Amino acid sequence: MHGYKLYVNGQFTDPASDRWFDSFNPYTGLARAQIAEGGPVDVDRAVNAAHTAFSTDPWSTLTATQRGALLRKFGDLVAREAQRLVEIEVRDNGKLLTEMQWQLDYIPQWSYYYGGLADKIEATVPPVDKKGFFNFTRHEALGVVGVITPWNSPLLLTAWKITPALAADCTVVIKPSEFTPASLLELVKLFEEGGFPPGVVNILADFGKDVGSALVVHPLVSKFTFTGSDATSLVINELAAKNLKQVNLEFGGKFPNIVFADANLDDAVNGAASAIFGSTGQTCIAGSRLLVQEKIHDEFVAQLVALTKTAQMGDPMDVKTHLGPVTTRQQYAKVLSYIDIAKQDGATLLTGGGAATQAACGNGWFIEPTIFSDVKNNVRNAQEEVFGPVLSVIKFKDEDDAVAIATTPVLASVPLSGLPTWGVHSLCLHPFRRAQFGSTPTGL
Ligand code: ADP
Repeated sequence: MHGYKLYVNGQFTDPASDRWFDSFNPYTGLARAQIAEGGPVDVDRAVNAAHTAFSTDPWSTLTATQRGALLRKFGDLVAREAQRLVEIEVRDNGKLLTEMQWQLDYIPQWSYYYGGLADKIEATVPPVDKKGFFNFTRHEALGVVGVITPWNSPLLLTAWKITPALAADCTVVIKPSEFTPASLLELVKLFEEGGFPPGVVNILADFGKDVGSALVVHPLVSKFTFTGSDATSLVINELAAKNLKQVNLEFGGKFPNIVFADANLDDAVNGAASAIFGSTGQTCIAGSRLLVQEKIHDEFVAQLVALTKTAQMGDPMDVKTHLGPVTTRQQYAKVLSYIDIAKQDGATLLTGGGAATQAACGNGWFIEPTIFSDVKNNVRNAQEEVFGPVLSVIKFKDEDDAVAIATTPVLASVPLSGLPTWGVHSLCLHPFRRAQFGSTPTGL
């Protein structure tokens, strides 16, 4: 079995604790790699390495144009290694080969984009109403950025965070998810090959609390960028605020897809099915809540169920597969529990509704693509992020009704999903917001 050490200061190193844990292939349910488990001592080493790299040669004396060239070279290397990285990612998180391929296609593009932006971080000369004064702003890099990422799209989400941070002259310490760290520990070799100095990129895997929390409170870490659950976002936000750290949080989504009676039915059925089942529901933009106008509801739902029943489950590396396994054993149990909750809450089960037992699923963590209709908008399946192949269909009368359902305040027990989810997502999608992090204007 492959073993992955921590990556600190340009070296693969053993963890201070000498503890290791298994990483699993969700398609087989078997351990596929052993991962070194970082802890607070390793965090301190990694953050110090990142801080030293930030403040000394050669990183601190590189020009912005040289940083841009390094990022573009990194993009080329990712493109060269894409197929190998895709396969590691699929075996780690069980998502479809096709999805991981297009995700990998983006990473070189972002590297080129942010590489180009590195020497275009401009400032301003604000007008001043007093003779003899000259005001200007300039952008300064923040220093060490802590990066905490989840298991559903590890390379994509991490590249999204670190390419702008590096373009802005920061250095990074990455804490990948405990479930899928292998692809990032492979990716880091490309930073090394591309000429990034030791200490600029560091990676420590662990189960969250030790490394994650130690990173957030470390005095030499200036900024955090996190993607994960609502619950962890709240913890990190509080820790970051107490320690006066800047933070970007990207967390759950539950925004509905809305189908009106005049929609092209075939397109809408296809769109609704792929929105929820395409990533086995394991994405913050999964279409897990579907509002359908009552005039077409029954016909629409019948077509959707018929299409869903044709979905082929199996090996995510096989291009004929429509649905792979759920990424983790814990998530598998959680999604099954949401199916039970929907039944208890009185929803009508139209298809699926349990663990998948087809031969093609072997011992993997597969759940049948599941559709419930007659879901009330105020129940947990309609409001909480299930993060699995479970669709909740809600009927509406007209536009006003659809808007009211889509925007109704949600369960008090889920504070963050009360936020408008489009707002949450615009935080992560707007490239300039990403570019901001790492730079801070200083008015003189
Ligand atoms: P998900 O299970 O959807 O990935 P989590 O919020 O549990 O969402 O995990 C996202 C990332 O946050 C993972 O890398 C995880 O290890 C990390 N994490 C979990 N708990 C904490 C914590 N208390 N402090 C910092 N990071 C954490």
